[in-house]
Amino acid sequence: MSEGMSKAICRFFGLEDQELTAFFIRLHNTLSTSSFQAVPIEERAIFIPQCLRAADCPAHLTPEGLVCRRCGRCEVGENIDRLEEIGYKVWIAPGSTLIKRMFKKYHPQAIIGVGCLMEVKEGIDMCDKAGVVAMGVVTIKDGCVETLVSWPDVYDVALLGTDAEKTVV
Ligand code: SF4
Repeated sequence: MSEGMSKAICRFFGLEDQELTAFFIRLHNTLSTSSFQAVPIEERAIFIPQCLRAADCPAHLTPEGLVCRRCGRCEVGENIDRLEEIGYKVWIAPGSTLIKRMFKKYHPQAIIGVGCLMEVKEGIDMCDKAGVVAMGVVTIKDGCVETLVSWPDVYDVALLGTDAEKTVV
């Protein structure tokens, strides 16, 4: 279903712009699930937004994004370790430029984008244009610093198509 079509349906049911965007992301995830499951883990990547970090995060910015120092001030470090153990490439992205650069360098076939509604929506649009399968996980607290994501929601997507898919995390 095209974005135009889903927007028309949302407007018909009187949904607001934010609800419409959330609906589009859920719909896109649903329609992309089987394609995502089919991509081997080593061809998948996850982009985590920098705003999930602690406000006093000591990570350094490098050409490959912010490199977590596992300082324990937020949940990002332990979850990067866990996601890398599953087999994902994981980046803390300061913006879409990094994501485009990593696309060119590593050519992931599928990605999980974590972020606020608009970031995830823009990321999905970018991936659609690039022919990359995209799944979005929207943060549960917006803002520029110390935002929150439901990590179980991230793993619900990350484990799709893996042996651990049915395991409670
Ligand atoms: S755990 Fe990593 S991302 Fe979180 S505050 Fe420490 S260095 Fe930053």
